[in-house]
Amino acid sequence: MAALETLIEALRRLPGVGQKSAQRMAYHLLQHDREGAQVLSRALAGAASDIGHCERCHTFSEAALCPICADEQRDARLLCVVETPADQAALERTGSFRGYYFVLLGRVSPLDGIGARQIGAEQLLARAQDGRVEEVILATSFTAEGEATAHVLGEALRSRQLRSTRLARGVPVGSELEYVDLGTIAHALVDRR
Ligand SMILES: [Zn+2]
Repeated sequence: MAALETLIEALRRLPGVGQKSAQRMAYHLLQHDREGAQVLSRALAGAASDIGHCERCHTFSEAALCPICADEQRDARLLCVVETPADQAALERTGSFRGYYFVLLGRVSPLDGIGARQIGAEQLLARAQDGRVEEVILATSFTAEGEATAHVLGEALRSRQLRSTRLARGVPVGSELEYVDLGTIAHALVDRR
């Protein structure tokens, strides 16, 4: 059955989904939830075609500016740098940050040939020099690559006389921000240095 094979192969693209889970999902949808399969298919097609990137912070957005960048009540002196839209969402859920964000296009990984340029460092520097930003908070993850990213960006900001701070320790070493509990992130934000 070609259509079934195609579905299983497509499901395997999801992170953490292997052959067995993909098969189980496919059989479940076909056997028990055809309507769910239609809902999923429409949601995927809609999201993939309608969601782009905010032209200012690069997070996911359906409009040119995301709701956060479009909100003029936020504190323009603070710019928080995160690795992914998921990390930005995690920080935003803490409710303890009132500045703006800049979402990197990944993190530096010298072995894969991914340096400052590939993750959008130039756009970040331009954004940080808008005349309003006074502090750039480097909220990359506490993995080796996240630390390397914070280091590279911190140096680049310092060379342009821009002040940068790092989330405080307390976020467990090796952590991806999106999986850390909100209270811990909120504390790390308040105790940044
Ligand atoms: Zn934005």
